[in-house]
Formats: sequence, structure tokens, C-alpha cells
Amino acid sequence: MKQSKAGMVYIIGAGPGDPELLTVKAMRRIQLADVIVYDRLVNPELLDLAKPDAKLVYCGKAPGAHSMPQDEINRTLVEYAVKGNHVVRLKGGDPFVFGRGGEEALELAAWGIPYEIVPGITSAIGAAASAGIPLTHRGYAASFACVTGNRCHGDNKPVRWDLLAHSVDTLAIYMGVSQLPDIREELLRHGKAEATPVAIIERGTTSRQRTLIGTLGDIHTIAAAMKVSNPALIVIGEVVHIREQLLHAERQAITMIG
Ligand code: SAH
Repeated sequence: MKQSKAGMVYIIGAGPGDPELLTVKAMRRIQLADVIVYDRLVNPELLDLAKPDAKLVYCGKAPGAHSMPQDEINRTLVEYAVKGNHVVRLKGGDPFVFGRGGEEALELAAWGIPYEIVPGITSAIGAAASAGIPLTHRGYAASFACVTGNRCHGDNKPVRWDLLAHSVDTLAIYMGVSQLPDIREELLRHGKAEATPVAIIERGTTSRQRTLIGTLGDIHTIAAAMKVSNPALIVIGEVVHIREQLLHAERQAITMIG
């Protein structure tokens, strides 16, 4: 029997892909959950942590093929919670970074349902680290911004590429693969140099991670030729050079040891 009749919803970040990047807090919540409502970007291995009788509800959203509208996800969370369940809402990365976790929290708050937000490692942090790209670095970048490359969800808040081109050193762009030609054109149009280095990190932190390097001048042709697919993060800025320096230093160290 459950300790309390009151339900609770845990809005949890599952991290960027590598299941070991889950927080201890998130792991404990998953292990105790009666219901887990999970997204497409969540590593399915994490579901093995669930109780054998936990109910697993998939609400993944493949690009262009939304399998469960946000209203329905919100309703699902409320319905399970009011029946007294401990519900885990498991999302890729961090729930409050392009995760719509805020919308779900607002819905739960409106129903008076207790909830907790458990942060996760967002994919910009995870994928960049895993590709050897520090988002800030002394002498290279004193700031970074997480930016959406996709404003097609009926959102009327435009991305200020004109400001981003000049006022932020490193841009970490989510959901940008299909819009890459437009994004680079916007940045070039607003005066960002063609030689600005760009990295695309596909499936960051997973065993299938792939990193492509180019510049604002040629990255769209590289991405097309290499058939980049989602999920992928675009990093734009001088910090991309640090990856090459790290790889170079590692190669030299191996030669010296060898
Ligand atoms: N809440 C998530 C972001 C969801 S938006 C987070 O905090 O990470 C989905 C976008 O995240 C994808 O289009 C992609 O740009 C990025 N993304 C998610 N997982 C990724 C991964 N393993 N590697 C690179 N980018 C990833």
C-alpha cells in the first residue's frame, strides 16, 4: 500500500544520452515511480531502473510526427497523479531547457498537484564536454547562450540572431539541424565572420557520437554531405578550436610515450 494517498509528479531530466549521466536524485525517483511518462530522447536503458510493475507511458515526439500533443501529456500527468500515483515525467537533458517542463509544472500547479523539478545535464553541456569543446575558455569565450534553431511550434518569440551574432561568444544551438542553412545565413548577414568555427555533435555522450567540424562558411555543405541527423547540437565559436588543440596534444603525448 502506498504511504500517502496524495499523488506527486517528478519532472526529471534524464541527461543527454549516456545513462550514467543521470543524477542520483533522478535515479531514486525513477526507482520508486508508479508511472513513468517518458520522451523519445530518453535513453531506454534508464527504464530498467523502474519497479517491475511500474506503468511506462511513451509520449515521444519525433520531429514532424508528434505522437502525443502537449495538452494530452499534461492531462496524462494530472490523471495519474490525482489517482494517488507517484509519477515520473522523464525528459531528455534538463526539463527546463527546451523541454517544456515549465508548461507541465504550470499545469500541475493549477491543479494543486505537488511536483518536484529534478534538473538534468542539458545536451549542450553534455555533448560539448564529450566532444572536447569547453563552452567557455579563458581568452576565447566569456559567455555562451543556449539557442533554439527551431521556432515552428507556434511560438511568437523570435530568436535575435542580430544580437547573438555579436554579444555572445559561444552559441549552442538545439534543434538546429534542419534549419542550419538559414541559421548560418542569419549570422553571416549580421556580420559574423565566415571563418568562425562550427562543430556539430550528433548523438552526444552516446556510443554513437559523431562530431563534424567546419566554419560558418562551409558547415552546411559538410552537414549535408555527412547526412547529419537528430539529435544533434551545433556549437558556434572560437572554443571549437580547443577540441583540435586537445586532439593535437593527445597525439603528441602518445608519440612521446611511444
Ligand atoms: N531538454 C533537452 C533539449 C530538448 S530539445 C536538453 O536539455 O538537452 C531537443 C534537442 O536537444 C535536439 O534537437 C538536439 O539539438 C539536442 N539534443 C538532445 N540530445 C542530444 C544529444 N545526445 N546530442 C546532441 N544534441 C542533443
